[in-house]
Amino acid sequence: MNSQHIETQAIRTQLERSSFLEHSNPLYLTSSFVFEDAEDMRASFAEEKQRNIYSRFTNPNTSEFVSKICKLEGAAAGHAFATGMSAVFSTFAALLNSGDHIVSSRSIFGSTNSLFTKFLPKWNIETSYFKVNEIDKIESLIQPNTKVLYAESPTNPAVDIINLETLGKIAKKHNLILIIDNCFATPYLQQPIKFGADLVIHSATKLIDGQGRVLGGVTVGRADLIREIYLFARNTGPALSPFNAWVLSKSLETLVVRVDRHCENALKVAEFLEEHPQVNWVKYPFLKSHPQYEIAKKQMKLGGNVVSFEVKGGVDAGRKFLNSIKMCSLSANLGDARSIVTHPASTTHSKLSVEDRLETSITDGLIRVSVGLENVYDIIEDLNQALS
Ligand SMILES: *Cc1c(COP(=O)(O)O)cnc(C)c1O
Repeated sequence: MNSQHIETQAIRTQLERSSFLEHSNPLYLTSSFVFEDAEDMRASFAEEKQRNIYSRFTNPNTSEFVSKICKLEGAAAGHAFATGMSAVFSTFAALLNSGDHIVSSRSIFGSTNSLFTKFLPKWNIETSYFKVNEIDKIESLIQPNTKVLYAESPTNPAVDIINLETLGKIAKKHNLILIIDNCFATPYLQQPIKFGADLVIHSATKLIDGQGRVLGGVTVGRADLIREIYLFARNTGPALSPFNAWVLSKSLETLVVRVDRHCENALKVAEFLEEHPQVNWVKYPFLKSHPQYEIAKKQMKLGGNVVSFEVKGGVDAGRKFLNSIKMCSLSANLGDARSIVTHPASTTHSKLSVEDRLETSITDGLIRVSVGLENVYDIIEDLNQALS
């Protein structure tokens, strides 16, 4: 399907029909595939033929999911993984050698931070960090052995925005591989490859699934890099299950309508919070008060579904707010049809020192709201009664 429209691509990119001429794509729950004869088997293993051999390598359902994400991101190739974290880990493990160096944003997903600080150093791979508001300092962090520039935008949980075009220029100038975790934006809102990213990673667990059901991950981008990542994954086994791929590929059919409504609701929630006397400040990319509003407008179609704000009264007020919530869920997930609230200072980020927390803009009273698809007035009413 050659449409340039993302909705059409997300719906009409599909596997070849089987002989049953099914309309909805079937689920290929099979661990392996059969060969016609010895020659077919030889040629398949020699990669003279592109075909499925074993579902640790490829499977029709995962291939359909990957080809949709490639079209939506404008990527040449991709590979799917069991989780977002296995996509992140496999990407770094496949591309880096002992002695290589990473320059990364300070504001990254917690487990990615653990990968950089606890595990990659075991293989002599070190990381230097820049703060989201100090991208002018990135070049001073680059060393002769720096290989990768890494960032997420919008960031979690503070919803800061990083200028992707600037990152693209720096990566090009210094011949670095620019990798962007695009999970918070989805390919509908932001396509990092347009700004010079070499690879884009998603946790499909979030808005791509959108209903809190399955885990999944994907890396897409330059074909030569994806080839290395594929060979690493094929031999080490972080494969996405065909069932999860089938769910995720179906979810992509509704990505645009879901994310449109998520963003519409999130903007209304952000505007409500901005007026509330119990709230110190609100951060949402498409609020004019957001410090990087102009950049957000330039690189994103809409503002995303995550709003962060600071409730007055510090850690205690944050905990009290969570205890007063009636409808929204207290959960670690995000990007779900159900609205979710978290208090990072007392939960996900409680192990960080106060200085480290403040460096990533996680203040004591910060609340993260993953705005869902319930009627927006019910979401606002729940937040309002909890604030009062
Ligand atoms: C959730 C998340 C991940 C990890 O994904 P999993 O599917 O939970 O492994 C990575 N990056 C970001 C930005 C995330 O929100």
